[in-house]
Amino acid sequence: MADEALVCPRCATTHDAGQRFCPDCGMPLTFSEHDGTDVATERQERARKIQPQYTEGDLVVVATGRNQAEADFISNLLLEEGVPSLVRRSRGFDVPDMLAAGPRDVLVPRSGEATAREVLLQSELHDAGGPSGPRPARLLAGLLAAVALVGLIVWVGSLVSS
Ligand SMILES: [Zn+2]
Repeated sequence: MADEALVCPRCATTHDAGQRFCPDCGMPLTFSEHDGTDVATERQERARKIQPQYTEGDLVVVATGRNQAEADFISNLLLEEGVPSLVRRSRGFDVPDMLAAGPRDVLVPRSGEATAREVLLQSELHDAGGPSGPRPARLLAGLLAAVALVGLIVWVGSLVSS
């Protein structure tokens, strides 16, 4: 049976397969030893990547995505390094759950914080939505706009002189 196939890595309570996070600690649930289901392969894969030493301590915010997709992306990046994370709507942005819009905080257990920040630093996502310098994508967009403007001026100039 798939019942109680999931176990919380922190408090060790078991949960049925429909849940992703422990209702008590908010930790992503991992699979217990004996689990015969094959529908859960992807989640099992995710759970397998989580390193137990990163599941200790209170949850702290390490990044903020501008939307659910960006937060999920950050979350997956962290998972690749074994750090479990929880995506939560940023405080002060209480919109209905069906809306994918709005910033999301990415939280990790304190023991995984240093690793998470390192991962984010390497991927230049640590300042997502923050006040620091322009991000590479925006820089490129600005450069392209400048090139287009110069092209337009040259083109208008050639019309006027002919
Ligand atoms: Zn728990």
